[in-house]
Amino acid sequence: MKKRLVSGVAFALSLALFAGCSNDDQTQKDNTSHKTEKHEHEAHKKNEPTKKNEDKNTPSDENKKNGENKNNNGNVSQDPEPKKDQDKKKNEPGEPSQDQNKKPKPPAQKDDSVSVVAHPESIPVLVNKRSKLPENYKPADLVYPDVPFIFSEKTEKRMMRKAAADALETMFAAAEKEGIHLTGVSAYRSHATQTTLFNNYAKRDGYEKARTYSALPGTSEHETGLAIDVAGDGGKCPAQDCFGGTQESKWLAKHVSEFGFIIRYPEGKDSITGYKYEPWHIRFVGKSVAQKIMGKGETLEEYFNAVPVSNGK
Ligand SMILES: [Zn+2]
Repeated sequence: MKKRLVSGVAFALSLALFAGCSNDDQTQKDNTSHKTEKHEHEAHKKNEPTKKNEDKNTPSDENKKNGENKNNNGNVSQDPEPKKDQDKKKNEPGEPSQDQNKKPKPPAQKDDSVSVVAHPESIPVLVNKRSKLPENYKPADLVYPDVPFIFSEKTEKRMMRKAAADALETMFAAAEKEGIHLTGVSAYRSHATQTTLFNNYAKRDGYEKARTYSALPGTSEHETGLAIDVAGDGGKCPAQDCFGGTQESKWLAKHVSEFGFIIRYPEGKDSITGYKYEPWHIRFVGKSVAQKIMGKGETLEEYFNAVPVSNGK
């Protein structure tokens, strides 16, 4: 009798602990919800991260693995319940608990599910609303590309990973030779910066609204050190729609891939990338990947056969 009581208590305790876990997750989710920047692409929710990447470096399967603990709360929480019943009633071993039938299984993934990228340092890494960088990820090889920016301070916003920075310098120089004057607007953004930005937006406009124009921390490509927003001569239309259609924008669309960059959020691909057209946001993925993607008019998601982010507005 006593024994049963004790095990009952122990069980209740473990349940409480378990519930604590899910709450933690929730909290974590809420906490993560800070960040970003204005022009920071539109947000969308939905779908699941990748499926196929196979050996193409990125998120997919491994993401799934990583993300599992965090995302599948529903599945996990199924376990304790039947046990509880058995403890309380009698130990009738083997008797499948009926509870299982009572409650329909919660969907494995919710709309907002996000997986953690397995190889954040990979050059063509896929980071989007469904594939986020690990907490505390900081690229190890950030440098200051020697190109003009619309501001003069030497801040993190100027930094890019070495390979991307080198390619950027080469590209800006090549453009210059053709009379195209490009200017940097914003490149690397730390997780902390992203978090602060998003929090500010959320405070001002509310979480849901903020998500429509600002990426959650960890899901912004700017945190990879491989992306940069560019503007035309004198910083005209920095990260704004009016950059589209300018000669700089046209030049980029035509030539970026020669330098290993892609126009990351092409027109008409919102439902795949999760962002509306951003002619100013270019992303370094390496030459051969860039040429494949731009050659076919595709997106990084399509290249990796990732599940579309989908604009679940
Ligand atoms: Zn951007």
